[in-house]
Amino acid sequence: MTTNIKKVSNGNEMQTLSNSHIKNGKTISFVPTMGALHKGHLSLVQRACELADITVVSIFVNPTQFAPSEDFEKYTRDIEGDIEKLSEFDVNYIFCPEINGIYPEGFQTFVEVDKLQKPLCGASREGHFKGVATIVLKLLNIVKPSFAIFGEKDYQQLKIIQRMVLDLDLDVKIIGLPIFREPSGLAMSSRNQYLSQNEKKRASFIYKSLTKIKDDFSAGCADVKELVNNAKTFLSEAKINDIEYLEIRDPESLALKSVASKEDIAVIAVKINKTRLIDNIKF
Ligand code: AMP
Repeated sequence: MTTNIKKVSNGNEMQTLSNSHIKNGKTISFVPTMGALHKGHLSLVQRACELADITVVSIFVNPTQFAPSEDFEKYTRDIEGDIEKLSEFDVNYIFCPEINGIYPEGFQTFVEVDKLQKPLCGASREGHFKGVATIVLKLLNIVKPSFAIFGEKDYQQLKIIQRMVLDLDLDVKIIGLPIFREPSGLAMSSRNQYLSQNEKKRASFIYKSLTKIKDDFSAGCADVKELVNNAKTFLSEAKINDIEYLEIRDPESLALKSVASKEDIAVIAVKINKTRLIDNIKF
């Protein structure tokens, strides 16, 4: 397929291009990704194209957000396939930097969002959000967007980015968009590719367990222990027992709740075989 999308792999070149668009009075929207694009990513791209004159999508599997035991090497890379998917949209640039362009020799400056990075995924993925905040800040400095679009699928990540932008006075509007799901309810994820058909079927119970929590809450149960235990029983019936966390938290501070209220969020991380999957639902 022919495409007008320009692929840029040099950070200085991307920054120069952005500067000249801004000088010409254009607005830029930006979608950072790690590639292996699916419809969830593309829903963000679609919105980005509507929001600004110029749309930039980055594809960078960021090594600093993976622990040594995680799937950095194995993570799906398919730049050509990604470009083909993006060519359906009004995307102007795909920014695909090299690792040593982003982290040159001697690199030693990191950003940490102190409290929000600690619980949930931060508890098991040491250094993950330090890597995420740092790469997002660097990408924002390179691309200089007016709008940066993130998925609510990675809810803790979204809250961390919003906090960083507020705390560091970054001149960008962060937009969070809803989770795009398979017809089964399974949240789309690049890691779903690791699942067999049977595992995918089991994984669809992750979202069902969240809707159960929400339904039980709507039916009058506000006791978090009861809500969570009932959902865990439900999950064990689908042979999902490797639950890293299943919790109800305040949607802004991410503080743990003992009594649930409207506006709260239920968040979950499980492993199916070796694949770690996350999801969430707002009440
Ligand atoms: P990733 O490539 O996994 O780093 O994701 C890039 C962006 O896409 C992040 O802002 C994710 O939250 C978002 N994203 C991933 N999966 C989905 C989904 N199923 N629905 C909406 N956004 C998503």
